[in-house]
Amino acid sequence: MDRAFRAPRLIGEQGETSGWVGVRNGRIVAVEPFDRPLEADEVIELGTDEVLLPGLVDTHVHVNDPGRSEWEGFETATRAAAEGGITTIVDMPLNSLPPTVDAEALEVKRKTAREKVHVDVGFWGGAISGNLDSLRELHDDGVFGFKCFLLHSGVDEFPPLDPAELEKALSVLTGFGAMMIVHAEDSDSIEHAPVAHGEEYGRFLASRPRGAENLAIAQVIELARRYDARVHILHLSSSDALPMIASAKADGVRITVETCPHYLCFTAEEIPDGATPYKCCPPIREAGNRERLWQGLADGTIDCIVSDHSPCTAELKKMDIGDFGVAWGGVSSLQLGLSAVWTQARLRGYALTDVVDWMAHRTADLAGLRQKGAIEVGRDADLCVFAPDDAYVVDAARLRHRNPVSAYDGRALAGVVRGTWLRGERIVGPDIDSPGQRGQLLDRDAVR
Ligand SMILES: [Zn+2]
Ligand SMILES: [Zn+2]
Repeated sequence: MDRAFRAPRLIGEQGETSGWVGVRNGRIVAVEPFDRPLEADEVIELGTDEVLLPGLVDTHVHVNDPGRSEWEGFETATRAAAEGGITTIVDMPLNSLPPTVDAEALEVKRKTAREKVHVDVGFWGGAISGNLDSLRELHDDGVFGFKCFLLHSGVDEFPPLDPAELEKALSVLTGFGAMMIVHAEDSDSIEHAPVAHGEEYGRFLASRPRGAENLAIAQVIELARRYDARVHILHLSSSDALPMIASAKADGVRITVETCPHYLCFTAEEIPDGATPYKCCPPIREAGNRERLWQGLADGTIDCIVSDHSPCTAELKKMDIGDFGVAWGGVSSLQLGLSAVWTQARLRGYALTDVVDWMAHRTADLAGLRQKGAIEVGRDADLCVFAPDDAYVVDAARLRHRNPVSAYDGRALAGVVRGTWLRGERIVGPDIDSPGQRGQLLDRDAVR
C-alpha cells in the first residue's frame, strides 16, 4: 500500500466513524476499523481535532477561460478549489469565449485547461437558441449535461431559450438521456420588475422578485413531467418554490435542486448599501427565506450545495461606485464553501456528515461521478483533512482565485482545510508550495 490514513474521525459511507483508509495507485483500496492498522509506505496520522472527508465535488463553477481569463482561469480556480478541499469541479459553459456550445468549442476549452489544472475538471455544455443540432455531438464528446437560461444570461453569445425552444431542447435531450440544468428566472417577470440602480440593495432585490423564479421553476417542472425529462434547478434562491418542487418529486418528476453557500449564509437585511460583491442572480433574499432553504436541505427537497463561483474583475464589480444596477453579478467563494456552509450548519445543529452529503456525495451523484465524492473502496483517493473547530477570518486578497473580491471578506468562518489529496497525492499542506497540476480532465462516466 502506498499510503494509509489513521483517522480518529472520518466521514465514510456509514457516517462518522474512526478508522484507517488505505491507498494504492491513486485509489482507495481499504477502509478498516481503528483497531485494525494498515501497513503502508507512508502513514498519515490525523490529530483528534481533525476529520478525514472525501474531497468535495463542486458542479457549478465559472472558470471563464479562454476568453475572459482576466476574470478567472483554470490555474487560479483549481488552486482555490484545492485549498478549499474540493478535488473535482465541473465548469459552466458560459462566460468563456467561445462558450461551450458545440464540439469544437469543447475542444478549445479542453486545450486551454490541459496541463493547467490542480484538481479534476469536467465540463457542462450549453443549450442556446440556435444550437439544438449540436447537442448530440457535445453529449457524445462527454459533457455532463446542458445548461440553459430562460432570460438574458448577461453575455450576448449565450442567448436564452424561449419557452418553445426549451420544450424542443428537452425533448431532444431526453432522446439520448441527457440532463438539462436550468437558470430558472422568468424573462417577462424580470422585464416588468423595477429596474435596479444605485447603491441600495433593496432596489436590486426588488428587480429580481421571487415570483420570477417561482414561475420559471413551475414551467420547468411541467415540461419535465410532460417529456419525462431529467432536469436540475441551478442556484435555488426563492424558498417559495420548495413546496412545488417537493410535490413534483413526490409525483416522480425527475428533478433535482441545488442551492449555494451565499443563500445559506447571508441575508438581504445585512447587506450594506453599495456592497456589490454580494450581487448575484437570483439574489440573496431575506432572513426568513434563508431559514426555509435550510429546512429544504433538511427534508431533502434541496439535494445539494455548490458554489456558483462566478468571479470577475474588481473593476466590473464597480466597487468604486457601488452601483448594483451596473455591477457584474456573481459571488466568488470557491475556496470558502466548505467553511461557510459548516459555519452556518453547525449553528443549526447539523453534523459534518450532512455537509459531506450535500457537498460531496450528492454532487458526485448529480454529475454521475461514481469514482468521486465518497470514502469507499474502489473510488479515487480524493481526500481532505478538515479541522472543524479551528477558525479564521477571510482576507479576500489572500484567496487563490484570480481577483481579490469576495462577499466573505472580513467574515469569521469555522473549519480549516489542513490538507487535500488528489488520487492519493498530496496537493495542499504546510510543505506544499504548489499543488503541481495533477488534475485530469473528466468525461461524463470516465476519466479522459
Ligand atoms: Zn445562473
Ligand atoms: Zn452560475
